[in-house]
Amino acid sequence: DGGIPIGQQSDPTIPQIDVSRPSVARMYDYYLGGKDNYRVDREAVDRVAEAMPEIRQLAQENRAFLRRAVRYMARQGIRQFIDIGSGLPTVGNTHEIAQEVNPDVRVVYVDNDPVVLAHGRALLAADDNTAVATADMHHPEEVLEHPQTRKLIDFDEPVGVLMIAMVHFLTVEERPAVMGRLLEALAPGSHLTATHVTTDGKPADAVAQIEAVYATTPTPIFFRDHEEIGHFFDGYELVDPGLVTLEGWRPDPQDPAPATGWLYGGVGRKV
Ligand code: SAH
Repeated sequence: DGGIPIGQQSDPTIPQIDVSRPSVARMYDYYLGGKDNYRVDREAVDRVAEAMPEIRQLAQENRAFLRRAVRYMARQGIRQFIDIGSGLPTVGNTHEIAQEVNPDVRVVYVDNDPVVLAHGRALLAADDNTAVATADMHHPEEVLEHPQTRKLIDFDEPVGVLMIAMVHFLTVEERPAVMGRLLEALAPGSHLTATHVTTDGKPADAVAQIEAVYATTPTPIFFRDHEEIGHFFDGYELVDPGLVTLEGWRPDPQDPAPATGWLYGGVGRKV
């Protein structure tokens, strides 16, 4: 990686950083108290926070769900994970959680943001069991066929797929092809874990304002109700307690409170 500042790489295959528009990866980093964000991202976050003052709790709650779900999957014997839309490295990354259960676990982090690639490579340089792949969720083949995926993931064995705070970036039209292709690639016993922002019990004007902010990013977001979100798990069997607001999913007394009710989460098993 040679210490060349990101954004100035000579490698034309590495996308450049766009600071003319907010990026969801950098906005999410700011929600979590990170430093990898620009003014354009922080201004977008301020507009989100007007409609959703509990945005930072939401991000914390989402990470806590990720930890519980990864632990659950690793204890079910899942030894390989694909974390799609992994985001910038934070405290308690997927491989760190999973490796506490089984040190041999392999993890591919997938994201389409160039900042994630740069930081991920630095974080993971010394770990042969983890890698970052730049690929677009909208094109599952890019994820499945990526050289890092091919190297670390054996599709004849169960895989844990994470799409945490990700599937709400797919349109209703995109959903069947994207989710169907992933399902098809997975061996029986594989798991899909996802969280998704909801309209249920929330003021319509707040939802509209947040959707409007994300519409200024390359990544529009879509809030949905319980039934619509359930369709992302079509073809899987939801494990107990099903698709629920995050605080209700196998709670751990150590996790942060209070609950925001803005996200549903679930874990589905392919039979
Ligand atoms: N999954 C993490 C981060 C969520 S933020 C968590 O829940 O904590 C959403 C991430 O998805 C960002 O890092 C963003 O860059 C990435 N992302 C958005 N659209 C994407 C796409 N089409 N393909 C791959 N990654 C995408």
